[in-house]
Amino acid sequence: MKQGKILIVSGPSGVGKGTVLKELMKRHPNMRFSVSATTRSPRPGEIDGVHYRFLDKASFEDMIARDALLEYASYADNYYGTPAEPVQQALEQGIHVILEIEVQGALQVMSRRKDAISIFIAPPSYGELRRRLYGRGDTAPEVAEKRLKIAIEECSHAQEYSYTVVNDNVDEAVQEMEAILLAESCRSEFRPIHLEEEL
Ligand code: 5GP
Repeated sequence: MKQGKILIVSGPSGVGKGTVLKELMKRHPNMRFSVSATTRSPRPGEIDGVHYRFLDKASFEDMIARDALLEYASYADNYYGTPAEPVQQALEQGIHVILEIEVQGALQVMSRRKDAISIFIAPPSYGELRRRLYGRGDTAPEVAEKRLKIAIEECSHAQEYSYTVVNDNVDEAVQEMEAILLAESCRSEFRPIHLEEEL
C-alpha cells in the first residue's frame, strides 16, 4: 500500500486554517488530523482526545523526555506538540496526516521529514486578521493582542514553506490546497514509468 503523506499546515491564529482544513477533509476522506498534545486549557466545546490531548506540564515534559514527540514548541506560554506514534501508524495505513502546527514546530518537521508537504495559510491583510482575531469571541482581548503580535512574526516565515495559500475566500483556498495535493501526487519520484515490451 502507498504510504500516506504528512501535510504541515501553519498560519496565524484567526486566519481560518480550521475552516479550510475541515472543508478539505470533507472532500478527501483519506486524511486525518493529528491530535496534538498541549498544556493550554480547553476552550468551551473542546474535547480531550478529539481537539487536543490536554496535559499538565509534567506529563508533557515526560513526553519530551521519552522522545515521544515528532516536534514540540512553546507558544503563548504553553507547550504544544505532535505525538509521533499515531502519525506513523496512520502513514503506514496510507492515510494523509495533517499537522496544524505553528512555525517553530513546522520547521522541526521539515528538517526531520523531507517528504512532508508544507503549506502556509496567510490572511489577505493585517486589518482582516485583526478583525477575525478579535471577532472570535472565545479569546480575551489581551490574549488576542498577544496573538496578533505573534501572527505578524509568523507571517515573516511564510517563505520557508513550500506553498502559501491566501485565505480570502474559503472555497478558493480549498481549491488551491487540492491543486497542491494533486501536483504533489504527480511528482516524478512517485510515478515510475514501466514501458515493458509486450511479449
Ligand atoms: P490554539 O491554542 O489556538 O489551538 O493553537 C495555537 C497555535 O498552536 C496554533 O498556531 C496551532 O497551529 C499551534 N499548534 C497546535 N498544535 C500544535 C502542535 O502539536 N505543535 C506545534 N508546534 N504547534 C501546534
